[in-house]
Amino acid sequence: MKNLKLSNKTKNKQKTTFKISNIEVGKDFLMIAGPCSVESEKQIIEIAKKVKKSGANILRGGAYKPRTSPYSFQGLGLKGLQYLKKAGEITKLPIVTEVVDTRDVYLVAEYADILQIGARNMQNYSLLQEAGRTKVPVLLKRGFYSTIEEWLNCAEYILNEGNDKVILCERGIRTIETYTRNTLDVSAISLIKQLSHLPVIADPSHATGLVSIIEKMSLSSIMAGSDGLMLEVHSEPAKALSDSEQALTPHQFDGIMKKIILVNKFCKQYKIL
Ligand code: PEP
Ligand code: MN
Repeated sequence: MKNLKLSNKTKNKQKTTFKISNIEVGKDFLMIAGPCSVESEKQIIEIAKKVKKSGANILRGGAYKPRTSPYSFQGLGLKGLQYLKKAGEITKLPIVTEVVDTRDVYLVAEYADILQIGARNMQNYSLLQEAGRTKVPVLLKRGFYSTIEEWLNCAEYILNEGNDKVILCERGIRTIETYTRNTLDVSAISLIKQLSHLPVIADPSHATGLVSIIEKMSLSSIMAGSDGLMLEVHSEPAKALSDSEQALTPHQFDGIMKKIILVNKFCKQYKIL
């Protein structure tokens, strides 16, 4: 852990906090929700209104999609960014969206309140450095096969460029298990809270790939110390252009949100975190 000069918890730096709009990251619970992909202006505005009503405080939506197959929907690109921004403005929700290409970092940074660096790009060092130069908050997802130390080293690349607004996101890693899409490493959330001052959130949607266990994994992540959650929500999951099998309906999301609020209250009241 010697190399973790900037992400390590120290006597003087116990916790990173910073503002995004009226949210204090590291203190306020981040509830990021929205579809996997921005599919149309109507789709993203509609879902933004629904997730906001249920209690989300940040809107997600991919405009540049890193897909396993080159024949799958690749995202709407610039149009997607524009639609997402409009949906964010209408609902007054800050927006997070993924940047997959170093050449697009400044363009995406003009639109996004948070730049997402996805699991597939966690160790794309030039992308990390470029995102670090923007000073826009960065949501750094954990790579499929990455250790906690490798992940924190990637955060160092961003911090080392002078951008101290880094949020880590545990989104599941590959293990021998095949019933789930990935394995949510809940222990990593707790451990990161001990090792680092950086905020860490969980993404049970990508971690499980299974709507039926997203609620339980969300609540477990909160108990483990997560500073927030990212959940994929779609008005018509069966018609979603990406990650349709893991998308919650707005109704399901609303039910989960009620429990998230309760568990957060419980944890605060009994000082569990
Ligand atoms: C996403 O958030 O839609 C995504 C592609 O996530 P990950 O990089 O974790 O697979
Ligand atoms: Mn997705």
